[in-house]
Amino acid sequence: MNPDHMKTVKPGGTIGILGGGQLGRMLALAAARLGIDAHIYCPEQDCPASHVSAGFSCSAYDDERRLTAFASAVDVITTEFENIPANTARFLTNRKPVFPSVKALEIAQDRVDEKAFINGQGIATAPWRRVDTLDDLKEALADIGPDGVLKTRRLGYDGKGQTRVKSIETAAAAFAGLDNAPAVLEGFIDFEREISVIVARGQDGEIRCYDPGENRHAEGILRETTVPANISPATRDNALRIAGQLAKALDYVGVMGVEMFVMRDGSLKVNEIAPRVHNTGHWTIEGCAISQFEQHIRAVCGLPLGSPARHSDAVMTNLIGDDVDAWQTLLATPGTALHLYRKGEARPGRKMGHTTRLL
Ligand code: AMP
Repeated sequence: MNPDHMKTVKPGGTIGILGGGQLGRMLALAAARLGIDAHIYCPEQDCPASHVSAGFSCSAYDDERRLTAFASAVDVITTEFENIPANTARFLTNRKPVFPSVKALEIAQDRVDEKAFINGQGIATAPWRRVDTLDDLKEALADIGPDGVLKTRRLGYDGKGQTRVKSIETAAAAFAGLDNAPAVLEGFIDFEREISVIVARGQDGEIRCYDPGENRHAEGILRETTVPANISPATRDNALRIAGQLAKALDYVGVMGVEMFVMRDGSLKVNEIAPRVHNTGHWTIEGCAISQFEQHIRAVCGLPLGSPARHSDAVMTNLIGDDVDAWQTLLATPGTALHLYRKGEARPGRKMGHTTRLL
């Protein structure tokens, strides 16, 4: 960390957050606990974070006048959404400290750059090839084999922009379905389980990791995270080492999520880095004294990191679409904490809230 960019925000200060979804909402609540105000910048009116924040600027990410006013109203800036245009972060960096850095955001926004970075650290991923043309796709299938996942290079999340392919025909159709946008072909990984590590790195380079959670997805969307993950101590140690190494190599400040596949021999492949607080870390609100959200606020505000120790085992379940209709029953369920994000319509696939059950 360049010492010029170090910044301490004390209680009474203001943190600016780019993005106004549920992650911003839970960050704002954690900041409030430390006596720090949150100011949200988001293009959508009525977004989940705006309802719990001291300040709200509603405008486009390229509105330089509003971005300038936002920067002057806050002490430090962070993001809750990895697809913030890099130019927005760059514009703000010239006005106030932005954590994580533009470089970290850019790497995580592009699946090719991300995988090249991870492999450059000597860390395994699924085999992959960049695909810009149909010829690239044919070559990639010849190299990797027909069983794969075709993903857009940019702007994918929750399984969107990705298709399982099993032959050149299904792959070509999937590529056409992406409007021939730049893509990456990954070999399909027959993993034993999926885990993630929530890692925090402070402005001073200190690293703290939460225990890995074990994740269950359906249709590309996270359904459930259970801690502890059912992995050996050696695999756990390796997962924490990998997450810490990646955070250090990115000169990262804040919390990030590192998703990994656990193979049958206990070895790990990194699937994805999320440069923000992460859905698989929501259990830390009830399972730890210091949640991932408070840890992120502490890191970007230059405050001492808290202990990531887990005091309880936990299961976090997302409430997706009309799952949220069960809110009254969930409120009446002993040992279950209910979080609702105050989103309007419960559309299919939309994350409306979550529960954490302590075990
Ligand atoms: P992603 O959007 O890359 O995080 O992918 C969402 C989910 O799709 C992952 O958590 C996995 O369950 C599955 N997935 C993604 N890539 C692969 C792969 N190469 N092999 C097997 N499953 C995958």
